[in-house]
Amino acid sequence: MVEKEPPSLKPLIYDLDYTDLENLVRDWQQPSFRARQIWEGLYQTYWRNPEEFTNLPLSLRQRLADSFRFISLEPIQILHSSDRETIKTLFQLPDGRAIEAVLMKYEKRRTLCISTQSGCAMGCVFCATGQMGFKRNLTSGEIVEQVIYYANLLRREGESVTNIVLMGMGEPFHNYDATMAAIDRLNHPLGMNLGARRFTISTVGLVPMIRRFAAEQRQINLAISLHAADDELRTSMLPVNKKYPLSELMAACRDYVAQTHRRLTFEWALIQNVNDSVETARKLARLLEGLLCHVNVIPLNPTQKYAGKGSTRERALAFKAELERHGVPCTIRIRRGIDIQAGCGQLAIQQAQNSPSNPLMI
Ligand code: SAH
Ligand code: SF4
Repeated sequence: MVEKEPPSLKPLIYDLDYTDLENLVRDWQQPSFRARQIWEGLYQTYWRNPEEFTNLPLSLRQRLADSFRFISLEPIQILHSSDRETIKTLFQLPDGRAIEAVLMKYEKRRTLCISTQSGCAMGCVFCATGQMGFKRNLTSGEIVEQVIYYANLLRREGESVTNIVLMGMGEPFHNYDATMAAIDRLNHPLGMNLGARRFTISTVGLVPMIRRFAAEQRQINLAISLHAADDELRTSMLPVNKKYPLSELMAACRDYVAQTHRRLTFEWALIQNVNDSVETARKLARLLEGLLCHVNVIPLNPTQKYAGKGSTRERALAFKAELERHGVPCTIRIRRGIDIQAGCGQLAIQQAQNSPSNPLMI
């Protein structure tokens, strides 16, 4: 992919928080209510073009257009799953990088799975994003814009976004500040006003960030990608486990629950004959003993560079039954969007896969 280094790229409007906008309006010697009007245009009606802000004087519309970019994500490929319930969009960023975001329609839910980075530095062996390496962090505005894009589409169908999972490309806690700023922006009461409880962040287990997140006492749901109950197996699948072994990770998880009284979710990609035995389930139950938590099991989705296979339904059910026998609640998640490579861990940009990836950066 060609790097188009944009020499005079205007700032992205979605990178502004409400206070930035208030300051801007003041600097431009506009009445303060203009900030609110612009914010509502961006985050309630999802206008994507300054010309649509017809409630503003023409001169202000013009000034906004001259000063900001309103679009940084160019949809270059849109795929619908065969059941039409999952839509995956590949977006190109102004520097030529690319990301993906997925909309999942399930009963009344309209859940978005969005990216926080282009690629990922964590190198989990079974994950297509990990296999493509790290490209760059997204800005908060680029994270926000993925939501606005879909909110705008849904609005035309009389629908709206109900849930957001930060489980697309990248490790959200490796881009902590931008991720939290994006959530705050989407959560803002004068704008989209999407409650913190509607967000779920999934992390591979960056211990210092789990601790920081716990201290911030946010209402956002937290999921930890565990996948193994002993260090040897976990390190072979998730290289980050060398840096933050299970003892440290589990201590941070226990402290999180103690501090926040919130239930943690553990993600477990079930891989046939690797981490799906009844003995492994027992080991996992011991690890989670007494912890306010829930295990989400998902049979591994196929990716190009990993030979492991998703477990059979029988093995998944036996794994779940063993956990529950030990008092650990467990859900087997249905695979979604597999036919368009939109399932967990399947997001990768084909063209980018050939370029050299950066080393693990934590
Ligand atoms: N980086 C974060 C969030 C993005 S990955 C994290 O790792 O938690 C979202 C989830 O998909 C994680 O639980 C991840 O372990 C899981 N995943 C990755 N590859 C997968 C695959 N091939 N099949 C099923 N789940 C996978
Ligand atoms: Fe990154 Fe998560 Fe994929 Fe691991 S599973 S490589 S942390 S996106």
